[in-house]
Amino acid sequence: MTETTTGLLKLGREYGAHNYHPLPVVAAEAEGAWVTDVEGRRYLDMLAAYSALNFGHRHPRLIAAARRQLDQLTLVSRAFEHDQFGPFCAELAELAGMDVVLPMNTGAEAVETAIKVARKWGYTVKGVPAGQAVIIAFEGNFHGRTTTIVSFSTDPDARADFGPYTPGFRVVPYGDLDATAAAVAELGDRVVAVLVEPIQGEAGVVVPPPGFLAGIRSLCTQQNILMIADEIQSGLGRTGHTFACAAEDVVPDAYLLGKALGGGIVPVSAMVSSWPVLGVLQPGQHGSTFGGNPLACAVAREVVAMLRTGEYQARARVLGQRFHARLGALPGVGAVRGRGLWAGVEFTSLPGREVCERLTARGVLAKETHGNVIRLAPPLVISEEDLDWGLSQIEAAIRD
Ligand SMILES: *Cc1c(COP(=O)(O)O)cnc(C)c1O
Repeated sequence: MTETTTGLLKLGREYGAHNYHPLPVVAAEAEGAWVTDVEGRRYLDMLAAYSALNFGHRHPRLIAAARRQLDQLTLVSRAFEHDQFGPFCAELAELAGMDVVLPMNTGAEAVETAIKVARKWGYTVKGVPAGQAVIIAFEGNFHGRTTTIVSFSTDPDARADFGPYTPGFRVVPYGDLDATAAAVAELGDRVVAVLVEPIQGEAGVVVPPPGFLAGIRSLCTQQNILMIADEIQSGLGRTGHTFACAAEDVVPDAYLLGKALGGGIVPVSAMVSSWPVLGVLQPGQHGSTFGGNPLACAVAREVVAMLRTGEYQARARVLGQRFHARLGALPGVGAVRGRGLWAGVEFTSLPGREVCERLTARGVLAKETHGNVIRLAPPLVISEEDLDWGLSQIEAAIRD
């Protein structure tokens, strides 16, 4: 087998489905913020797997936790309890300031869990007539790839030709509190939940106007609607807070977590909420073979322990200020959005793909989102020197 980049790329294209359009890098190993490809070239990772690598590649604490668990127990299914399950749920619930945790694997599954729980809560607690529940979501949303989730996507690539679509969703403009209130007024007691990303990652790191999240919170409280915050990308330190909702002092009725919860090692997701909400589920009504498995719980417990120190949130806050100040001063940049170590950089004329290709050649990994926007989310463990170097490569790439 060819070990060269071109050979491996060709193999992937020949035998792997074309549902992604990867940049021409074939990674072989990585540590911290740095990735080495099959030819020994090094790259600074300024994407961090869309925040799944918040703690960098192969963080020693996380690798040690995984190794310990690999030598003990990896899977029992939820037919039995194991010694990591209770502690994981308790520790994550405490970090989130909530009562109860329902673990799943991927982010999409956490979102599906929330949709099912919100509907069941609507019928059994709120008293919505059978089959009438509506969940409000927002234009530009990204919540995953299942048939139900793409049913309320507004991205034609994500949605077209995958119907028939799941009913029961109303989509309103993101950041528009009046439109949200109008939808609630029109739909009345049928509305069971508002599903919101505190910052929209996939849409290009879109930050809603101040007061939006707080407004959604009070609307939901007044109308007896669940506010469900999809913090799968925004949560766990990225924005300088454990949860992005905290920037507006908002506490939702449920957090959806994923990506960084698995420490870049295993997929771990969760819905974290209160007993009145998650308590609607009885045995047999929802589940997952791998959800809450021992390896996942052991790694996620270490993630929670690391977040409890506040060190990573602080790094995101402090380095984030430097990051945004320097990005804002770059030539050819129209707008810089985001918070903490997370940015959507909109170029005035350069296509995002072009910038990312130039960056790859310069040893920096980043990813375009839509049109002229690139997304930057370096690992929170990145050093100040490396961050500065990465930013200078972005500046050079713009001038290339
Ligand atoms: C990535 C993401 C998801 C889906 O997670 P998967 O693990 O890819 O299924 C859902 N919501 C948000 C906000 C995300 O960024």
